Amino acid sequence: NKTEIRRALQDVDYSQFNHTTESTLPVRAAIVALVRNSDLFGLRQAMRQIEDRFNSRYNYPYIFVNDVPFTDEFKQGVSYLTKAHVEFGTLDHDSWRVPEWIDQERYEQVKRTARYPHGEKDSYRKMCRFQSGYLHRHPLLKDLEYYWRIEPDVEYFCDIDYDPFMFMKQSGFKYGWNIAMPEFMDTIRTLWNTTQQFIREYPEYLAKHNLKEWLVDSSGNYNGCHFWSNFEIVDLSFYRSPAYQAYFDYLDRAGGFFYERWGDAPVHSIAAALFLNASQVHYFDDIGYFHPHVYTCPTGSRQRGRCVCDPDQSIVQNGFCNVRFRNTKHQILYPDSPTAAYT
Ligand code: GDP
Ligand code: MN
Repeated sequence: NKTEIRRALQDVDYSQFNHTTESTLPVRAAIVALVRNSDLFGLRQAMRQIEDRFNSRYNYPYIFVNDVPFTDEFKQGVSYLTKAHVEFGTLDHDSWRVPEWIDQERYEQVKRTARYPHGEKDSYRKMCRFQSGYLHRHPLLKDLEYYWRIEPDVEYFCDIDYDPFMFMKQSGFKYGWNIAMPEFMDTIRTLWNTTQQFIREYPEYLAKHNLKEWLVDSSGNYNGCHFWSNFEIVDLSFYRSPAYQAYFDYLDRAGGFFYERWGDAPVHSIAAALFLNASQVHYFDDIGYFHPHVYTCPTGSRQRGRCVCDPDQSIVQNGFCNVRFRNTKHQILYPDSPTAAYT
């Protein structure tokens, strides 16, 4: 049973979002990652695929940032793989630290007793805080309209025969994602309460046709659904907006990046679901992708023959958060037509 959303996407003529490298790039955009020197080979693997599937035709620049200076070996190792311009940056003090309002003793106690992945790590929490609140404000990203986030060790399975930046800009999309999952709830115990307090104080930031329904269960509690932000294509005016900035500052003050282990994925996702309209959030169901250890492998006819993944290996398309997103978006865009429970 095809839905209107799916039909609408199938009807898109993607060739209009193709262009040649001879022309100037239609969007000020870059492929961006926070990475460590030790990620060199995982990142090279990811870049090799990004180049082969997409960027060797377009040559969007890369921007890599790190909390310590990149080594010459790293810089050479990644630059070899692309004709595109590659920029390297470090972080300022504010963006990579434990803020002074965090109670050190309480924080140490949390790290000793946390029972979830990366629960003992200081660097992981700084990383999540940085990706939530600072990456989009890094000076190297100042002139960008859009970014595409990549990470070491990710894989891109399908030939991407159009420019997703151009597609998003011309379609008015501000947030693009391809995997949605439930979060480890222990890492975000008070994130939803804090978010609700924020909304009570700043109701003006809620978008009129938002996707809040996607986030809550029937009792109004957070269901943990979030987009995996290791892949995201974002109109940076969203993260630079007063709503997002105020939300990040509020969360940062509340301390949950350290007292818990709030991830940039749920933070970005909750913000997208509350401060954007449903029509501005796009599911890239055509971009086959792997981040350890989850696959998404397109099944649509447009992609047949273009992907090297096995659709039977990928279960996330029909997972709870994915289906709930499609249904919620469908209900908001087409309130009078039946729910989009396609599989
Ligand atoms: P996961 O995807 O949640 O398992 O976390 P990752 O280990 O993949 O980290 C997410 C991203 O942040 C990756 O691009 C890492 O290279 C980067 N990252 C994580 N910790 C650090 C760190 O301490 N320093 C730097 N520079 N990058 C980091
Ligand atoms: Mn990762």
